[in-house]
Amino acid sequence: MLSPTRELASHPARRRRIGVMTSGGDAPGMNAAVRAVVRMSITRGCDSYAIYEGYDGLVKGGKLIKQMYWGDVRGWLSEGGTLIGTARCLEFRQRPGRLKGAKNLILNGIDALVICGGDGSLTGADVFRTEWPGLLKELVDTGELTAEQIEPYKHLNVVGLVGSIDNDMSMTDATIGAYSSLTRICQAVDFIDSTAYSHSRAFVIEVMGRNCGWLALMAAISTGADFVFIPEKPPSQNWEDEMCDIVGEHRKLGKRKTIVIVAEGAIDRELNKITPAMVRGVLEKRMCLDTRITTLGHVQRGGSACAYDRMLSTLQGVRAVETLLAATPETPSYVISIRENKITKRPLMEAVKLTQAVGVAIAEKDFDKAISLRDAEFAEYYNCYRSTTMRSNPTAMKLPENKRMRIAIVHIGAPAGGMNSATRAAAAYCLTRGHRPFALNNGFPGLCRHHADAISSVRELTWIEVDGWISKGGSEIGTNRGLPSEDMEKTAWCFEHYKFDALFAIGGFEAFTSISELRKARDKYPSLRIPMVILPATVSNNVPGTEFSIGSDTCLNALIEYCDAIRQSASASRRRVFVAGADLSGSVETQGGRSGYIATIAGLSIGAFAVYTPEEGINIKMLARDIDRLRESFANDHGQSRAGKLILRNERASTTYTTEIIANMIREEANTRFESRYAIPGHVQQGGAPSPMDRVRAVRLAVKCMQFLEQEGQAEAAVIGIKGSKVVFSPMEEVERDDTNWTERRPKKEFWMDLREIADTLSGRFRPPDDSLPSVPA
Ligand code: ADP
Repeated sequence: MLSPTRELASHPARRRRIGVMTSGGDAPGMNAAVRAVVRMSITRGCDSYAIYEGYDGLVKGGKLIKQMYWGDVRGWLSEGGTLIGTARCLEFRQRPGRLKGAKNLILNGIDALVICGGDGSLTGADVFRTEWPGLLKELVDTGELTAEQIEPYKHLNVVGLVGSIDNDMSMTDATIGAYSSLTRICQAVDFIDSTAYSHSRAFVIEVMGRNCGWLALMAAISTGADFVFIPEKPPSQNWEDEMCDIVGEHRKLGKRKTIVIVAEGAIDRELNKITPAMVRGVLEKRMCLDTRITTLGHVQRGGSACAYDRMLSTLQGVRAVETLLAATPETPSYVISIRENKITKRPLMEAVKLTQAVGVAIAEKDFDKAISLRDAEFAEYYNCYRSTTMRSNPTAMKLPENKRMRIAIVHIGAPAGGMNSATRAAAAYCLTRGHRPFALNNGFPGLCRHHADAISSVRELTWIEVDGWISKGGSEIGTNRGLPSEDMEKTAWCFEHYKFDALFAIGGFEAFTSISELRKARDKYPSLRIPMVILPATVSNNVPGTEFSIGSDTCLNALIEYCDAIRQSASASRRRVFVAGADLSGSVETQGGRSGYIATIAGLSIGAFAVYTPEEGINIKMLARDIDRLRESFANDHGQSRAGKLILRNERASTTYTTEIIANMIREEANTRFESRYAIPGHVQQGGAPSPMDRVRAVRLAVKCMQFLEQEGQAEAAVIGIKGSKVVFSPMEEVERDDTNWTERRPKKEFWMDLREIADTLSGRFRPPDDSLPSVPA
């Protein structure tokens, strides 16, 4: 028997009520998703309800379904796990459980749901939606509810967000939590690496992923592991030989440590389980290696979300609410996904079916199908890993002699996380294919200065030299801001002298300018008529031709860690505002890009009260308005919120209103009602070790660049970039002409400009008082 019917509170202008729930395994970023859904629902004139403890809360109702207000989700961006709880709920798998759930939703006036969970939770959501009319009919037939009560709730709208650390959902590149989990794994493996090196040991590391090897593969790529076992691509039947060949070859080349990553669901081609103990046995017996096993376990779920997950879940939460509000009874349930850099929506059941088909394909030993059912990137990453890291049969992938090239690699501009990872991948790929990779030490000035000296300005890279570079910050070959135009004559002479057939440049706006100069000098210097490609790498993310530069993710993570810490300090002393000077562009790159990307995305990821960018500038009206809002906000806070407030300012946002001056103005205006301090993170933002996202993207894009240079008859100078949902090579000439703001040193159109409004909306910067919000009628 269901609980007695509660009278539904009905008022004349009933506002639409949107429920939000987290379900299945918890994942970092779920809180950010809930925060975005709650605040966006309120902003759009709806009421927001949290359903605690997943489907259990839906079935039990009562206190587990609770209205959420703006302030309830304050500070949630930096919290790990899920604050509204999650649980496995057997009852919801059966119709009677779902019947109770339907009744509870109607009693609370909710007919739109955002569910953040894995494929199980989303399947449950779709079953629920499909059954909804039948459930309502049964509730009326059995007298649980009246026909009038169900009348306004004839249609249930559902939108899914994929929250899962495994990244196991098809039709999306990344699930909420996956990159945070990868961050945790990489931190652990980086630590293990040094002890493995010291003792010349082998480590077998088990990572999560029952049906999905994404975490294992990405961890292997971003730590340069010697071998990886994943369920979608099992090794050959004699995997012992294969692994020993590769590990043996690596040791022969001089490697002192061996790392093997094993996914929880690792199997061989006959579906027999491959366990860490089996792998250790082989390494000990056949390779005589002192081998240890490390099972990372729940550490992989822990901690606060990385910058990418905070941004992903925030943008997806916003999109979920918009999708719900646009839904009609005829539209299918959607799941919000991401393709490269573009948030999209896909039919929920299609994505779930495709995901489940992976399990079936594995069970049927159709591994090619299994890997193809994952997103396209997955197979590409696997091939990158093979061609850059698993070095076994050195002749297998080699090109014929006449196709082999001498490829110059140069770092230009300020260091950025991932430069070394990209260089390592490019060099390793070259060696696999029979090319010869040469590093230009210390950029173009280095090349010109020392070309005749005993200290060579060019060095040929070897596999063992670059092997450890994947996790190293800074620039191992030296980077320099100097442009080739400082001595074009000598630069061209060096290219001829060293007989370079192609150039791979890694860097920011200076790299872009350098390639532009070399391209234009081709008419005069035949040695420069070679294919050239730039991989954008800069913390400022201001290179035309791409929406993403490697290094910017590392910078964002360093910045949000810094901001979380100062916010904590601000909270501890209550009523304090911190003004932080974000972005290195002023302090490191003296003519640095004037792009507010880092400040804006960091602001979005930490919930900054305001973000000041060079694009928008700072004026007195803006400051006065923000100070008014601060005053208002502190006046309305009667101690219920301890979260400190943070303002981010790009160093180039204004020459007059410096970070310190703004902090002082706020203090003056606050007139002792609240405090204001300032902090400048400076070089901290360059980060130490590159983030896993920068590492894996560096590897993938570097390999793509090498393949671009290898193309028959290639004579182009191009920039590789992520644009919307695609990775593209754009001809330099075109990008220079159509897409470059040379004065401001940034792209003409910056994709993230649209995100400023979302950041401002969710931080409440322009929020009208509650009662003036328009209501969305149900
Ligand atoms: P995940 O969402 O992480 O894949 P589960 O598979 O455990 O995790 O699913 C979470 C919850 O979703 C389950 O406890 C159950 O309540 C609900 N659920 C899963 N599959 C179904 C289904 N086929 N029908 C109804 N509810 C389901």
